[in-house]
Amino acid sequence: MSTITQSSPANVTTEADQSAPAHAMEAQPDLFAATEPLLTVLSFGGGQDSTALLELYINDPAFRKRYAPRDFMVVMSDTGDEFPETYAHVEKMRERCASHGIEFNFLTADQGWHQGDWTSLLNFFQAKNTIGSKAFPKTCTDRLKLQPIYRFLENWLSKKYGVQCHHKKGIREFAMMHGKIQVMIGIAKGEERRVADPAKNPNRWYRDSIHNIYPLIDLGMDRAACQAYIANQGLPVPIPSNCRSCPWLSLEELEYLRRFHAEHLDVWVGLEAAKLEKHRDKELVLVPTATGTKTVNKNYGVFGTMPLPVKIREAKEKFADWSDERVREYRMSHGHCVATAY
Ligand code: SF4
Repeated sequence: MSTITQSSPANVTTEADQSAPAHAMEAQPDLFAATEPLLTVLSFGGGQDSTALLELYINDPAFRKRYAPRDFMVVMSDTGDEFPETYAHVEKMRERCASHGIEFNFLTADQGWHQGDWTSLLNFFQAKNTIGSKAFPKTCTDRLKLQPIYRFLENWLSKKYGVQCHHKKGIREFAMMHGKIQVMIGIAKGEERRVADPAKNPNRWYRDSIHNIYPLIDLGMDRAACQAYIANQGLPVPIPSNCRSCPWLSLEELEYLRRFHAEHLDVWVGLEAAKLEKHRDKELVLVPTATGTKTVNKNYGVFGTMPLPVKIREAKEKFADWSDERVREYRMSHGHCVATAY
């Protein structure tokens, strides 16, 4: 296992899908190389599923042999909008990795792997005077997590294995020389619908170079089993991770925010109000129908045309008889209901 390294400033690449470069085509695969994958990368999310995977890697030799037999590295990209509990947990796991000689890379915006206005979720909202909404296409996971991770990964590969670093050519070069990179993803049993079809990824470099693995599904571990495994290692179980300002929050999660992170809720409400104010002209949009036209409100907030303060009131009333302990318990035991596929 390798030692902790600092992430370096980005030699950021574009996302263009490039054909195999001449440099990579010249590289010759090692025909006598071991059939075991050389590199496994744990995509760490800071929540329960990926923490269970990291603990399995630390504690279980059979798990290591089966899922990450050779080089191993952990990486997480900061959305800038995680719960304080999650940041505290990430720090704890970073220290835990250090004590076990496992490389843990937490990609924060100051390191340069995030691009443009996507240095954090809230920064994007502020810069564009917009808000994350259920009514809009979801780009946040790609911009805040996947793109920074793969920019970093190519740079990291170039330093560690000597491949080039340019438009993902280095990732392809690595795969050609050493086999596909295994990316270990924390999707628990029962969440199989979140497993992405690799053939549908639009980037050829990705299809040619990345092989996602889902050990929790393989091992039949659901969320409860992950929580139990973490607790059995004598560790506090973290909350499921997700952005505080995610439009896919459930009403229960909104109530958790209202009770325990009210100051953030005020910020979020303010951002939505600014967005709605700026786009008042979209509130009366004429759209054609079979019989003529009708007027439609297309000025969407977090939950579509229902403003966030109304949803907050709805949650407050619905869970008025829930104790704080019950709200916390719900938050701990339910993963985030985002239908993101990885
Ligand atoms: S948790 Fe929600 S807001 Fe954050 S990246 Fe995922 S989908 Fe986007």
